[in-house]
Amino acid sequence: MTQPQPTGTDYARSEHHEFLPAVDQALHDANLQLALVNLGDTLGTRNKQALGSLPDKDALRQRARAIKEAALSRLDEHLVTLQAAVERNGGQLHFAADAADAQQIITGVIQRAGGRRVVKSKSMTSEEIHLNHALEAAGCEVLETDFGEYIVQLAGHRPSHLVAPAMHLTINEARDILSADAGQTLPAEAEALAAYARTRLRTAFGAADVGISGGNFVVAETGSVVIISNEGNARLTTSLPRVHIALVGIEKVIPRFADLPVFLKLLARAATGQKMSVYTSIVSGLRRDGELDGAEEFHLVLLDNGRSRILAGPLRESLFCIRCGACLNACPIYRNVGGHAYGGVYAGPIGAVLTPQYDGLVPNQHLPHASSLCGACQAACPVKIAIPEMLVQLRDQLHAEPAMGGKLEGFAYRMWAVAMRRPALYRIATWLATRTIGRLGKRWLARLPGPLHGWTQSRDFPAPAAQRFRDWWETEGQK
Ligand code: SF4
Repeated sequence: MTQPQPTGTDYARSEHHEFLPAVDQALHDANLQLALVNLGDTLGTRNKQALGSLPDKDALRQRARAIKEAALSRLDEHLVTLQAAVERNGGQLHFAADAADAQQIITGVIQRAGGRRVVKSKSMTSEEIHLNHALEAAGCEVLETDFGEYIVQLAGHRPSHLVAPAMHLTINEARDILSADAGQTLPAEAEALAAYARTRLRTAFGAADVGISGGNFVVAETGSVVIISNEGNARLTTSLPRVHIALVGIEKVIPRFADLPVFLKLLARAATGQKMSVYTSIVSGLRRDGELDGAEEFHLVLLDNGRSRILAGPLRESLFCIRCGACLNACPIYRNVGGHAYGGVYAGPIGAVLTPQYDGLVPNQHLPHASSLCGACQAACPVKIAIPEMLVQLRDQLHAEPAMGGKLEGFAYRMWAVAMRRPALYRIATWLATRTIGRLGKRWLARLPGPLHGWTQSRDFPAPAAQRFRDWWETEGQK
């Protein structure tokens, strides 16, 4: 496949890239800012309105949380039920402890089936384990079939949004990327670009040996993988090739089929503002006698990759996430810097919670701070995940990290706590502050000295008032 040069900024794509320079780059990327400008008014407004119009939304959100909580509490039992159901349906269940394990299982299945041409429907879990690279290294030809993912794959980028992977591109950039693939200049019109991709992808579906999908939910009692999409590519991926492999995180398991409608009502509304997504595919194993399509071989790969550890820890609620993207659309940080600045596979507020847990807190030390803690993410979340609270917990953990070189912040908070517990000391400190830097009058400090200068790199530091409130109150306030 041709790999055109990215038309916009070439983003850092490593999990360990520096967050602050990436943010700076994003803020100065005119095309990215253009692409992001409508996010709040499109997806953000639509999903807010759609969730808001549900008459029983709070009860439904609460119910979704309760199902997730119950499912995760007895996950070991549900996995046994799921394995029996998958095997009853003629499929095979594989447990993958980590990314390398999952890559090995999937490449092994493909090689044993004598496959080479692979079509994929959108799967953030496959991004998490860098599956495409592993498959290409094993000699496979891999094609993403979600429209946004296809564009992103052609550009050599990573998805920048959970449900809109090419969110960071303007239509002109998308046109340039697809034109390079087509070998001709395509018009910068969504319909024309989609028509080109449709023609290109239909041919690939017909020729593919293996289809790899993700799964929004996995129902333990029936062994069904539930895939929600708007493009129909997931249905073609799972039903046309001979072999279907579904790669899903263990947290996606729900016990009963009867639990599914709760999530179906919430997910489409929270993701795209639709009452229902266009396609809800429920895949339960192999093609049966008399059926016109369906795979002849089915494998469900359940990925742990740190999830069991998270499940046993204080931030287990982050596993309730159904990947709708609503918290990204609501977040003032994401809406300014986009998804790539976060560095990890999962961007936005939930990414700021997940990436440090999957990938280590110290290498991702800026992510828990990439939030104003305004609470918009939790308000938008269909399962009411307490993201701000978890970000604060991660900040706490970070301050306790011995590996953290910068102890200044921890020291400052300790001094603050000492002063707050001793009113006399607090009074002396505020008296001193007003009579030193407070005397600078209304001037603001444009640049703090030494290690504090980071604070004033992109903002002023307001000087304290020349007179303390306490002094003003004694002389003026009681008149
Ligand atoms: S945290 Fe909530 S809002 Fe964000 S992607 Fe997950 S389910 Fe959606």
